Amino acid sequence: YAKQDSVHDYLFKIVLIGDSAVGKSNLLARFARNEFYPNSRSTIGIEFQTHKIQINGKEVKAQVWDTADQERFRAVTSAYYRGAVGAVLVYDITRRRTFDNINRWLKELYTHCDMNVVTILVGNKSDLKDEREVSMDEGKSLAEAEGVFFMETSALDSLNVSSAFQMVVKEIYSIFS
Ligand code: GDP
Ligand code: MG
Repeated sequence: YAKQDSVHDYLFKIVLIGDSAVGKSNLLARFARNEFYPNSRSTIGIEFQTHKIQINGKEVKAQVWDTADQERFRAVTSAYYRGAVGAVLVYDITRRRTFDNINRWLKELYTHCDMNVVTILVGNKSDLKDEREVSMDEGKSLAEAEGVFFMETSALDSLNVSSAFQMVVKEIYSIFS
């Protein structure tokens, strides 16, 4: 939901989706707390984290939802998607299978959310250059074809993580403000 708390505050629900172990939880940890978990799946049972962003002097709250690993069992529920106005759709640039599954995730997203949900395709783990299986051009092309934003990120190196979330929040803001 895009909710206006008070005269100046906005709250936007954004969902993280994508295959297991692509780095969703670490992207959120990096974005919201500037933390990273090298070895863990880091699913700490928190449903969402709220992070404040300033846009044009207004305080905007990004309420970012993370799965509790349900994606491993393809059991992300409709409650998870309900009311989302933004989506961060993540694959792992070192595992092509996670990129091949993007179309499935998009279908699921559009089944549960409005077609206008602001979406960014994110190729994560850009730090693992030697293990790359998906080129940046492939990511870009898919994003263009699907009409969504695109960025490569590294939660480990803290590269483009804030930019990716901010891109979504700013676009939502421009739609709702
Ligand atoms: P999730 O299942 O999609 O939530 O993925 P996690 O955030 O739990 O990450 C899965 C694994 O990938 C963990 O071992 C993380 O430390 C690792 N990981 C996450 N992001 C990155 C990244 O940007 N670079 C590297 N090298 N590893 C990452
Ligand atoms: Mg996770």
